[in-house]
Amino acid sequence: MSRDVDPLPTHGPAFPFQDAARLSLGDVQLRHNMGKATTTIRAKRAKAVEEMPDWEALREAGRAIKERTLRHLDHYLVELEKAVTRAGGHVHWAADAAEANQIITGLVKGHGANEVVKIKSLTTDELGLNEALAEVGVTAYETDLAELIIQLAGERSSHILVPAIHKNRAEIRELFRRRLENTEGLTDEPRDLAAAARTHLRKKFLNVPVAISGANFGVAESGTICIVESEGNGRMCLTLPRVLISVMGIEKLVPTWQDLEVYLQTLPRSSTAERMNPYTSFWTGVAPDGDGPDEFHLVLLDNGRTQVLADQVGRQALYCIRCSACLNICPVYERTGGHAYNSVYPGPIGAILTPQLVGVHNAGSLPYASSLCGACYDVCPVKINIPEVLVHLRGEVVRHKQESMSGRLAPEAMAMKTLGKVFASPKRYERMQKLGRFGQRLMVKHGMIESLPGYLGGWTAVRDVYPVAQQTFREWWRDRKPEPKLPPREETRP
Ligand code: SF4
Repeated sequence: MSRDVDPLPTHGPAFPFQDAARLSLGDVQLRHNMGKATTTIRAKRAKAVEEMPDWEALREAGRAIKERTLRHLDHYLVELEKAVTRAGGHVHWAADAAEANQIITGLVKGHGANEVVKIKSLTTDELGLNEALAEVGVTAYETDLAELIIQLAGERSSHILVPAIHKNRAEIRELFRRRLENTEGLTDEPRDLAAAARTHLRKKFLNVPVAISGANFGVAESGTICIVESEGNGRMCLTLPRVLISVMGIEKLVPTWQDLEVYLQTLPRSSTAERMNPYTSFWTGVAPDGDGPDEFHLVLLDNGRTQVLADQVGRQALYCIRCSACLNICPVYERTGGHAYNSVYPGPIGAILTPQLVGVHNAGSLPYASSLCGACYDVCPVKINIPEVLVHLRGEVVRHKQESMSGRLAPEAMAMKTLGKVFASPKRYERMQKLGRFGQRLMVKHGMIESLPGYLGGWTAVRDVYPVAQQTFREWWRDRKPEPKLPPREETRP
């Protein structure tokens, strides 16, 4: 096993995005790694998408299926529960992270296991499951290569699909050499790195009695759970251990098998730029022939999702199929990396999903982690209008601030209130213009204001402001001499 592995990472301090981003921007190596990785994935994805003449129709279909499913979520969830139970599985309903962790740790300890293998860990990251397992004496081994890297490094994931995107190959080699056995002479060739991880994991697959998985999709009509992955480690988790516990957010549901045909075309192209992902695994209940687990548990997780569903604009965040195309295209994410979001879901999808899951009072800086350029909307394979939700959530953040006295008295709120009054009256507006023209005299340089005093200095820290014009349009209009009236034209008859 690994040498002196640090305790599993917990979530960092809740810095506002702006502060965390400032720190990330100072890390030159991180910016280099991120820029290189996202540029490469972006170009490959664009090429893979170009091959599909019906791409727009697939996007529409993907969105329509999610819309319909979420409209009738109660019905489909019950259908899924019945189907899983019919196939010999057990369904557990978890309202929040604490309940889900309690169910899962109870199941693991109930089987006397002190170790578990894991695959597709994003939803379990949301729960802080590894930490909950550690508290009851259970060690969790991540089996996805990128997740394993993160675990060995004692860090948090910085990308939905490529959690170690912020690390380059040389950094990974150094990490493996420090943490894994028999890695003297290891090179930084991807093949060698993968082989070292495989050797490390093989023993676990063969000896650990319980596996925990996430889920990409759950099919209501048959009770089938599906994951897509690239390395085959998931398949090992799903077939070798005798007990399988799958954790699925309730939004991952699709009504029928046929619905999968849309997502299994759009997901691989959007995420890894592949026509088809290397491993697509399906499992339904238990496997009586021994080719799979003989005990299967499905934990259906709410953890704030029904609250998101109640918001008519924000609910589209639940359509997400976690392809990560929006991360790879986002100019903000590319420069700050994923850790700045302090969220399990970074990038544009994190900026709209996390504040809704944990409340804008806990993640109010995230809706501002965007330039609103709209690139994320253009690439999203389920047509989530991310800019629309960002603007909607910014409104929620402001409304939330205004609920408190300190929020109402904040300089920005006061300035907006004053401006509202000024704009409401043409006379007041003109008076303000005159005052501004007088007050700006010492600030205008080369025709622009480069620095405003006091609180307003934040505005000019990153941009220049045009001064109030020496003559406004209204003033020009008033000064304008009326055109001389022409005498009426005389009627002439032929
Ligand atoms: S929001 Fe859209 S583009 Fe972003 S991860 Fe989800 S499905 Fe992919």
